[in-house]
Amino acid sequence: MGRELKRVPLDFQWPMDKPWSGFLNPHYAKSHNCAACSGSGATTASQRLGDLVSLLMLSGTDALRGACHPYLCEAPLYSTQGKTCGADMAELTAGLAGRTPSFMGHDACDKWSATKKIIAAAGLPEEWGTCQECNGNGTIWESPEAEQAADDWTRSEPPTGDGYQIWETVSEGSPISPVFATPEELAQHMAGTRWGADKGSSVETWLKFINGPGWAPSMVMDANGIRSGADAAF
Ligand SMILES: [Zn+2]
Repeated sequence: MGRELKRVPLDFQWPMDKPWSGFLNPHYAKSHNCAACSGSGATTASQRLGDLVSLLMLSGTDALRGACHPYLCEAPLYSTQGKTCGADMAELTAGLAGRTPSFMGHDACDKWSATKKIIAAAGLPEEWGTCQECNGNGTIWESPEAEQAADDWTRSEPPTGDGYQIWETVSEGSPISPVFATPEELAQHMAGTRWGADKGSSVETWLKFINGPGWAPSMVMDANGIRSGADAAF
């Protein structure tokens, strides 16, 4: 996304560059990252297993490439540091992943499959490694009610009116211009800002964006120029 034209009341007051309150879920203030797992939802043991499985899968990818990844050149691998395994390592990691890797090497899905198999081979339940403090959510809520309220919350748009204002939609969404009564005034203002194309967009370009060929509220302007919301989806 990029920039969006919004029609707001002429007396609409909201600070520029400040995300509109209706876009921010206020109930998240009643939660914090689980300290026990730093918000990951996994125990340290589970995170350690993840690290080790990553290196193992990397060894399989290396075997196919006949290379040694820099990580494996530096990791304290007592008898194999800097060495490249043979095809038998690729057999092992493909077996754990349930598939041979693409030319990109083993991916996160492969790692996930391998981790599941290792936990199962140890005779442990699937929930092994889940943080007990947060039940694997990574988030601690002040109360179940606060969590429910956060789930129930819905976004609300700013009020609509006769004014013209440009918003950025890269973050949650904030106004990046004052409210103007006409497209011309807004285009004039925006042409003097850093927003738009790299070199700054001209008044004409902004006017085209604001009025739009078949004006639509979902018109966007980003690095690829001005497109309708539908075009921008591609
Ligand atoms: Zn936790």
